[in-house]
Amino acid sequence: MKMHLLSCGRLRMRKSIFLPVAERSETIELPVSSALLRHAQGNVLFDTGCHPTVPEDPEGRWGGLAKLMIPIMQPGEHVLTGLAALGLSPDDIDVVINSHLHPDHCGCNAFFRKATFMIHADELAAARAPGSEAAGYLAADWDQPMPIDELTGQRDLFADGRIVLLPLPGHTPGSLGALARLDRSGTFLLAGDTVSLRETLDTGIIPRNTWNGEALAKSLAEVRHIESSGTTILCGHDTRQWDSLRKGADAYE
Ligand SMILES: [Zn+2]
Repeated sequence: MKMHLLSCGRLRMRKSIFLPVAERSETIELPVSSALLRHAQGNVLFDTGCHPTVPEDPEGRWGGLAKLMIPIMQPGEHVLTGLAALGLSPDDIDVVINSHLHPDHCGCNAFFRKATFMIHADELAAARAPGSEAAGYLAADWDQPMPIDELTGQRDLFADGRIVLLPLPGHTPGSLGALARLDRSGTFLLAGDTVSLRETLDTGIIPRNTWNGEALAKSLAEVRHIESSGTTILCGHDTRQWDSLRKGADAYE
């Protein structure tokens, strides 16, 4: 199995959302990404980034959320161009895993018409709840007609231990991580926004954009346990780590 990390642009946010000690005026840039896992039984995409119209019309797509997460990518920086560079069209994707249903993680879901979507049941419930837009769930992104395979616990996607989905609630009710076991590069945990920044894992400081701090603290403890066995933790939005990773055609194997 190969793992390709795909760039889906960048967002700017207040640093104090993640680290309350930061000045209110301080901002940080957050890379947005997607991971393509090329398994013998199918092409699997972990998260789909932001919708292609976001750089040109952030408020049109995101409404007020565009003031909290300011897109700073160029038009064309999204998962579909990353896949095209690898010779893949959206129809080549068999399975989409959504770490959660915020618009920087499921923004291109609509394009994967032939995929089955792996989403945690608690995440769907949160997205379907009345008033969920205020919590960052935009129906235009997540509410699609394609089949959903709802998870309620851990899931070994192809029953061979290569891709294992792991509930890691806290950032949102149904946040998922994915363990990807590669032959040469070892095991990776795609942690999504359970670990947006490396600093969150190192300091244990709970970001403000957290659904349930106690649940997140528990999930962070689980991630540390996983890391202690030699697994590489891939953070959801960590610039320093992102800059150090292989991307696009330069795959992990
Ligand atoms: Zn995010």
